[in-house]
Amino acid sequence: MKLYLDPGHGGQDPGAQGHGLNEKDLTLDIALKLQSILQNEYEEVEVKMSRTSDITKGLSQRTSEANSWGADYYLSIHINSAVSSAEGYEDYIYSGLSNSSTTAKYQNIIHGEDLRENELKDRGTKKANFLVLRESAMPAILTENGFITNTHDAALMKQSSWRQKVAQGHANGLAKAFKLKRKHSVPEHPPPPPAPVTLYKVFAGSFQSRKNADEQVASLHSKGFEAFVNSTTIFGETWYRVQTGAFESRNNADELLAQLKKAGYKDSFLVADTLFP
Ligand SMILES: [Zn+2]
Repeated sequence: MKLYLDPGHGGQDPGAQGHGLNEKDLTLDIALKLQSILQNEYEEVEVKMSRTSDITKGLSQRTSEANSWGADYYLSIHINSAVSSAEGYEDYIYSGLSNSSTTAKYQNIIHGEDLRENELKDRGTKKANFLVLRESAMPAILTENGFITNTHDAALMKQSSWRQKVAQGHANGLAKAFKLKRKHSVPEHPPPPPAPVTLYKVFAGSFQSRKNADEQVASLHSKGFEAFVNSTTIFGETWYRVQTGAFESRNNADELLAQLKKAGYKDSFLVADTLFP
């Protein structure tokens, strides 16, 4: 699905103004938020924006860009203004279209989804002979997301979290209207792989004769050390290693090693075994 996403106004044209806000800044922020929701969460959505910064761009330049790109849908985002008592949300499709048109069907879906998120009064679905609606070759909608001249609506507009909700409402509407497929959910923070564990094994000698190893074990036992035979094969030869301990702490292993050497087991050594769970 190819969406032409058009944040209203820009550059030298601030659009509506009120309560210290410019329409052009609000529409751009909402549109950028919408673009990232669509690109992050849905498959096979291509978004082309009429502007991604505060630039001046004519209306017919926008529609001809959408037409030559071959957009499937034209979405223009605006903020309303009027007398201070006017408030709420409304959206427009081209006045020449019937209520049973595909464009009207999309409008109804987006209208409903926008109102679920935007906390604005419902002013209804409307039609008008706006240039971007008339000159765009594909189904088109223009949403008017609250009145910049109204105290209640303008207070919402100042909140980034509200602008995010407005973007979300549009994303939900587009997803429903165009049956967009969600991306397979990828956990944002996958659990870390289990950490490898290093075990420090202390040996009091290694013997090629099992008998010698057993004698060493007996000797160690008589001196109060724990010990057992742990056989291993090195280059095809079996070695009987006399293990006296295994520690996760290198310090503890070193301590035992020192005790063994002090007790006369000069051939004692330490092996670090790293286990990958
Ligand atoms: Zn506008």
